[in-house]
Amino acid sequence: MIVLGIETSCDETAAAIVRRFDDKSDNQRAGQGEILSNIVLSQIEDHAAYGGVVPEIAARAHVEALDGIIKRAMLEANVTFEQLDGVAATSGPGLIGGVLIGLMSAKAIAAVHNIPLIAVNHLEGHALTARLTNDAPFPHLLLLVSGGHSQILLVKGVSDYERWGTTIDDALGEAFDKTAKLLGLPYPGGPEVEKAAKNGDPKRFDFPRSMKGRDGYDFSFSGLKSAVRREAEKTAPLSDTDVNDLCASFQAAICDILADRINKALLAFKQRFPHLDSPQLIVAGGVASNQAIRATLYAILQKHEAELIAPPIALCTDNGAMIAWAGAERLALGLTDPLNTTARPRWPLDSNAEAKIGFGR
Ligand code: ATP
Ligand code: MG
Ligand code: FE
Repeated sequence: MIVLGIETSCDETAAAIVRRFDDKSDNQRAGQGEILSNIVLSQIEDHAAYGGVVPEIAARAHVEALDGIIKRAMLEANVTFEQLDGVAATSGPGLIGGVLIGLMSAKAIAAVHNIPLIAVNHLEGHALTARLTNDAPFPHLLLLVSGGHSQILLVKGVSDYERWGTTIDDALGEAFDKTAKLLGLPYPGGPEVEKAAKNGDPKRFDFPRSMKGRDGYDFSFSGLKSAVRREAEKTAPLSDTDVNDLCASFQAAICDILADRINKALLAFKQRFPHLDSPQLIVAGGVASNQAIRATLYAILQKHEAELIAPPIALCTDNGAMIAWAGAERLALGLTDPLNTTARPRWPLDSNAEAKIGFGR
């Protein structure tokens, strides 16, 4: 099947065409996917002057750009509307203005061409990306770390998630962005902090490792951000070396916290699924593009004889392919949505399942 995916929940206007090979086809690729096109227009320049995404500016930019982006995605994939088996759009969570624009466009295409609409949870888009890129089987653990979320989830199937842990304050991407901002680094801060950290001393500042050693799988990052602010104020005026050291020490604390939480989650996962030869952890969301974080996770997983799956960076940050793919996976299970589906600014990933909090608490 061929699905068009539309993503407009934040500051990327994106559309993509993805093919999912039929489950019944004797093709070896049954159930696997292929990206036929993936067009992402970033609005970073529109928001940079404000140091963050301005919802009204984002919505207007989506309106201006979206039809052109969809046309480009269709053209590059060499696909006509008649060839589409479905159209998927992010229908939450995210900035409501942007979500409405993508969802309404998808509804119009579905209505005019008489094809199914798939209303995709943006987080499920991030979550299922590793099945597109690496054919990851269920069940697996998922570390979802993005601009708005930081969660550890058990993924049992499409639309079947158990949330084990979440942040009790800032999301990890938000912590990176706020730390960058207070150090005078440009938006979006994640990649800038990572770059600065490469030249810094991770041991110079001893920042708190919140939640480390605690029961459960929750995160907390706001204390860390405040600690960076205090040290920055004490050290000011900041030289390049100071900024590099602050970033390196901040990132080292993050890596330690993630290591602690994932270590615990993997132990619980292995206890629950003892028959799995090689448990898998998927890391997804924009922060998953951070190489220091990937290296930390990789080291822990080796210790557990587990496998780390990290999609390519371009598919970790927001894109249309992840939405098209989640749409295709849902469509293959008959999970389509009526044309009166509403946009949902808040939409937890585990809302379809019973909200079970994991082990150990
Ligand atoms: P959500 O998916 O929760 O709705 P979002 O879509 O805005 O939020 P993503 O696009 O998945 O989030 O990720 C963007 C976030 O990832 C930003 O906070 C950005 O700073 C962060 N990020 C991107 N690259 C890196 C990096 N190399 N290191 C750390 N953080 C990064
Ligand atoms: Mg973004
Ligand atoms: Fe995202």
